[in-house]
Amino acid sequence: MRMPTEADAYPFADQQLPCLVGGEFVRQGRTFDNVNPVNGVVLATVTEADAALVDRAVQAARGALRGPWARLSTPERCALLRKVAERIEQRFAEFVSAEIADTGKTLQQASSLDIPRGAANFRAYADLALTRGSECFEMGTPDGRGALNYSVHKPVGVVAVIAPWNLPFLLMTWKVAPALACGNAVVAKPSEETPSSAALLAQVMQEVGMPPGVFNLVHGFGPRSTGEALVSHPDVNAIAFTGESATGSAIMRGAADSVKALSFELGGKNAAVVFADADFEAAVGGTMRSVFSNCGQVCLCSERVYVERPLFARFVEALAQRARRLKIGGPYEGADLGPLISRAHREKVLSYYRLAREEHGEIVCGGGVPSFGDERDRGAFIEPTVVCGLAEGSRCVKEEIFGPVCHLAPFDSEDEAVRLANDTRYGLAAAVWTSNLQRAHRVARQMEVGIAWVNDWYLRDLRTPFGGVKLSGIGREGGAHSLAFFSEPMNICVKL
Ligand code: NAD
Repeated sequence: MRMPTEADAYPFADQQLPCLVGGEFVRQGRTFDNVNPVNGVVLATVTEADAALVDRAVQAARGALRGPWARLSTPERCALLRKVAERIEQRFAEFVSAEIADTGKTLQQASSLDIPRGAANFRAYADLALTRGSECFEMGTPDGRGALNYSVHKPVGVVAVIAPWNLPFLLMTWKVAPALACGNAVVAKPSEETPSSAALLAQVMQEVGMPPGVFNLVHGFGPRSTGEALVSHPDVNAIAFTGESATGSAIMRGAADSVKALSFELGGKNAAVVFADADFEAAVGGTMRSVFSNCGQVCLCSERVYVERPLFARFVEALAQRARRLKIGGPYEGADLGPLISRAHREKVLSYYRLAREEHGEIVCGGGVPSFGDERDRGAFIEPTVVCGLAEGSRCVKEEIFGPVCHLAPFDSEDEAVRLANDTRYGLAAAVWTSNLQRAHRVARQMEVGIAWVNDWYLRDLRTPFGGVKLSGIGREGGAHSLAFFSEPMNICVKL
């Protein structure tokens, strides 16, 4: 796999990104701009799928379920998925530069996480689907009378996949791969902020010979646009969505009339809990990662850091010192921190920086916008920010900000730490830092979240359950959990 450089052209420069419907690339109707958050430059225009085009995509998917796709065996389907993974790797540099152009994220992250995980998702679900078993229950007597029950896994049907902009390719493929592995047909909608890696995936699907209609791609916005048309379409059977909690509620309402199956990975306001017995260096380093990775735009990022009082002042100082040293810059500059996704999102994050001051917080470092004196001043860069001294009930401690910022507060006992960490309407992830093994297990288990890391953050095994409780989601993805969501189990009872 060749590493891209800045000289690698954005694959869709000055083009109009098409939708993919029934195996055909479609450019029609309205378009919108795809903007580079590094310098505000328009990279390309994007075809916005209206309700009629969404309908065509759904009908193409429905048709594919009656076509050759339905006659492929599981090994044949999985072989196609492996080809998708191989082709992503062959076009690695293009995928990386597309993802970087849309998001401004660092070359280091896009090439070590986003794109490799996209390929890995297809391989992982090919493996999982191949090795999946099924249930069998005998109701019989020893002499062979009675009945035999067995389960078969059928595809759910037409699946809508709706993805966000923060890890665009990783999160879209995380749903597309298991949906296809289970024999469904997909209509995928990437975020309007990040259409490019999905557009390359559409090309890859064509290149590997995916039957027409099995994978359809529609670009566009959410409300009153492509997303809304997709989730309310009566012929869509299931929706796999990752994004904001409020969007999840809107999708639920849109999907209610046709009672669709829903898998939701939503927002977070994640806590890190650092005990005084933790390995100090590991805890500071891990918290730096958990607060500032991807410019704080990972649903799993820690926005609330609770530190046991004897360690508190030292920990705040160490974190702030390192945050001040983070290099902010463009994707190819060896920076630690890229821009936020857009100027609009920067305005939202800055409003929380202002609010933190209004709510009487102390901005220990950051709190503003960096100045470069060049084209990057037209981008969406922001300073990494560390805040202390906010009341627990303040909005900055309660609401998801989704930027490179955390609030630190001290605690005095294990019970208090658990109570503070759980005092939120969200419940996605937590990180616990301690060298006491018993406490590690005890505290991790008490976290009201879908995933708790002990002495690490964002260490992922794709077979494990992934998702959140409370406002952070419905259901679990990962391993057998994804296969369960994307399949309809059916019991067949045979009288013997
Ligand atoms: P978003 O909810 O604004 O958008 C996500 C997607 O939904 C986009 O494709 C958007 O066009 C679409 N959409 C918006 N409104 C819609 C509607 N009414 N009907 C149908 N589709 C609609 O989220 P975002 O800003 O792109 O992403 C950031 C959010 O995602 C954060 O809240 C973050 O925590 C969350 N997130 C969660 C996870 C997780 O696994 N739990 C992972 C990544 C991001």
